[in-house]
Amino acid sequence: GAERTKNVLILMSDTGGGHRASAEAIRDAFRIEFGDEYRIFVKDVWKEYTGWPLNNMERSYKFMVKHVQLWKVAFHSTSPRWIHSCYLAAIAAYYAKEVEAGLMEYKPDIIISVHPLMQHIPLWVLKWQGLQKKVVFVTVITDLNTCHPTWFHPGVNRCYCPSKEVAKRALYDGLEESQIRVFGLPIRPSFARAVLSKDDLRKELEMEPDIPAVLLMGGGEGMGPVKKTALALGESLYDKDQGKPIGQLIIICGRNKALASTLESEEWKIPVKVRGFETQMEKWMGTCDCIITKAGPGTIAEALIRGLPIVLNDFIPGQEKGNVPYVVENRAGVFTRSPKETARIVAEWFSTKTDELKRMSENALKLAQPEAVFDIVKDIHELALQRGPLANIPYDLTSSFTSFI
Ligand code: UDP
Repeated sequence: GAERTKNVLILMSDTGGGHRASAEAIRDAFRIEFGDEYRIFVKDVWKEYTGWPLNNMERSYKFMVKHVQLWKVAFHSTSPRWIHSCYLAAIAAYYAKEVEAGLMEYKPDIIISVHPLMQHIPLWVLKWQGLQKKVVFVTVITDLNTCHPTWFHPGVNRCYCPSKEVAKRALYDGLEESQIRVFGLPIRPSFARAVLSKDDLRKELEMEPDIPAVLLMGGGEGMGPVKKTALALGESLYDKDQGKPIGQLIIICGRNKALASTLESEEWKIPVKVRGFETQMEKWMGTCDCIITKAGPGTIAEALIRGLPIVLNDFIPGQEKGNVPYVVENRAGVFTRSPKETARIVAEWFSTKTDELKRMSENALKLAQPEAVFDIVKDIHELALQRGPLANIPYDLTSSFTSFI
């Protein structure tokens, strides 16, 4: 019979900018590779279908990462498997019906989780529905190194690890080698496939054509010491003797509106652009010569693809900590929490240490994995094919597993 369009449900949550960016990367790569063969839904199932605490994850996460000690406790105290299993089991039982309805609405042939808390409950739903053998379930991990163990669930068909370090953790946590693939972090195809000339981009984005540029950001939420660093750069990138700037500064504040408005009201001696949430990060990165950011995996992976040396100035405890040695040990960047130090490093890169900047840029390009997202969707496609011609999956929307509990 005619091939039926297959439904792919991508489970994400808007905690930070990274999960959404990964979900969109996978969606776009499916479209590019397979066109109409797949219909893709990107959903925050928790937000849409459950109550507290699941629907509140975005807000609690923002609150906790602002109060770093709280996040540390939350991250490490939920690490042992029995703790998060019990916790998630309790929540699953409580919201079973809603989550089940939420998942089943899309009649997925394939479920892709890009979130550490979206393995257990959906897999339970599939089990209770007797759909485990029919629906392909995969996890795409979006932390480069020190990730939370809730990412690892032995019931998945595949677990895509962005690095060997994460794969090791997966094995240690009980996954089989056959379940694990290491392709890299999925980055939006607009990044991976973009052929951009710096000169054209500078014109398009109305930047200075001839002086080097540094991009300053802090993930989707504009976190880290962005303001202090910007002010320090305003001084260090101005050559007092010659009375002219040696560099220009782009600040991307993401969803942090307060940050954007205080920075906009500053007076600068160097060319500065203050921006809010940008949808074309590949262009901004394409015009710059280095980047300053907290250790977000998405931003790091994107910067590596663009060959930008990285100054890491902060990290979220737990999942982002391991990203620091990943960058520093591979000599693609440096780590410092001091805004003054950051400003000094960038000023040197733009004046006396241009060769160091060049070397680091080459090292960054060596680490880059722009094809990862395509490798991931091709592998998922193979998995789906192995299930044979996908018969219509018998989604039974009337039986509810809440009666099972
Ligand atoms: N990002 C974006 N526009 C912005 C700020 C950030 O598209 O204005 C994207 C950025 O390119 C990256 C993601 O948001 O893909 C941030 O992910 P990361 O893992 O670095 O940090 P998170 O925000 O998840 O903590």
